[in-house]
Amino acid sequence: MKLLTYQSDTGPRSAGVRDDGYVDLNRTDESLPLSLKALLGRGPEALQQAAAAIERGEAFDAEGVRLLAPIPHPEKVICIGLNYVDHAKESGSPIPDEPVTFCKFPTAVRAHEDPIELPPASDQVDYEAELVAVIGLGGKNIPESSALEHVAGYTCGHDVSARDWQKGKPGGQWLLGKTFDSFAPMGPHLVTADEVGDAGALRIQFRLNGQTMQDSSTSQLIFPVAQLVAYLSRVVTLRPGDVIFTGTPPGVGAARTPPVFLQPGDVAEVQIEKLGVLRNPVVAGK
Ligand code: ZN
Repeated sequence: MKLLTYQSDTGPRSAGVRDDGYVDLNRTDESLPLSLKALLGRGPEALQQAAAAIERGEAFDAEGVRLLAPIPHPEKVICIGLNYVDHAKESGSPIPDEPVTFCKFPTAVRAHEDPIELPPASDQVDYEAELVAVIGLGGKNIPESSALEHVAGYTCGHDVSARDWQKGKPGGQWLLGKTFDSFAPMGPHLVTADEVGDAGALRIQFRLNGQTMQDSSTSQLIFPVAQLVAYLSRVVTLRPGDVIFTGTPPGVGAARTPPVFLQPGDVAEVQIEKLGVLRNPVVAGK
């Protein structure tokens, strides 16, 4: 099942994708909540109820509908660095023996087709295609063996990164370089875990103006999703709608000779097998 959040006249609403268009969940079954975050928090039975609504509801034309990020306001945007062997190598970093973790603030979240705004404060804004896991039922100290029961689904993510703010700042802290406004596009849809199947065997690509810059597989992840969920939940309570950016494969712009950084007028595309294409134009920001 593919779920999405769209902007209606009255605010954000959730819908499902069908061949003939989108089906509004709450309009079809008023016991379903308006937001995907609330839906995910109700657990697998509510997802089945949503699936039934999508099957029987009345579809509206997808054309011209403004998508929001599947979870427009996640409570947490947790990111994993250096999680592909080859990317760690191209960054000149040792292979980590436990996950490298940082975060983005929710103000960085953007949707499919929203612009990525290049901040005047940086001239080294780089791209990173990433698989994003979306938490359904929350939890603390989740064992790895049942961790995937807490993952409602997946979406494409773009971990936009200002290298000149990520590296070489005092303390080695990555946070600010990763969390400029618009640096966390996600979408276009949330694809439920049952439809994705093995999230550790998906082709993942990044295209810049149509040219392939990254092309790998999530089978190359050093720490797969179940391990990340277990590891993170030892520290923080995971909550419905929290998102985990799982790291990027090789081919980022900073590792190229000469380096490639995003420019106004570029078109950035993250494509992940079974999850679709997340496309964002790049513009000069303020
Ligand atoms: Zn990343």
